Amino acid sequence: MTGHNKRFDVIIQKLRDSGHKITPQRLAIAKILSRSDGHPGAEDIHDQIKKDFPTMSLATVYRNIVLIKSLGEVLELGFPDGSNRYDGNKPYPHPHVVCIRCRKIVDPDLDSLDEMTKEVALETDFKILNHRLDFFGICNNCMAEEG
Ligand code: ZN
Ligand code: MN
Repeated sequence: MTGHNKRFDVIIQKLRDSGHKITPQRLAIAKILSRSDGHPGAEDIHDQIKKDFPTMSLATVYRNIVLIKSLGEVLELGFPDGSNRYDGNKPYPHPHVVCIRCRKIVDPDLDSLDEMTKEVALETDFKILNHRLDFFGICNNCMAEEG
């Protein structure tokens, strides 16, 4: 995967431009978000960061995610059970595939989505601004475990 460092730089720049202090904690959170391996939740990020910043609370992690989200630099994937996950590598709307067993989330490459968006606009006479498209299934790891 490429573009992680670039995403990290963009997030830090946005924080600076909006007058926020760049603390080591903030750098660490921005780094994890810019990579967004597996679309971490706030608790996953907190777990990773605790090693370097043992006193950092989950609330602080959460506050920083909300801040970066307010700058448009992280996409929040909300789920009805409240287990929100984050993608700072691709902060724009894109489809996801979610494993209902282990909650793994991946980004499929869908060429047909642009076409679909145009079709929806044409059919409804809406100007489409956003979309959310989630596919739910069972990942191959979980399939293997089920035998
Ligand atoms: Zn799975
Ligand atoms: Mn994603």
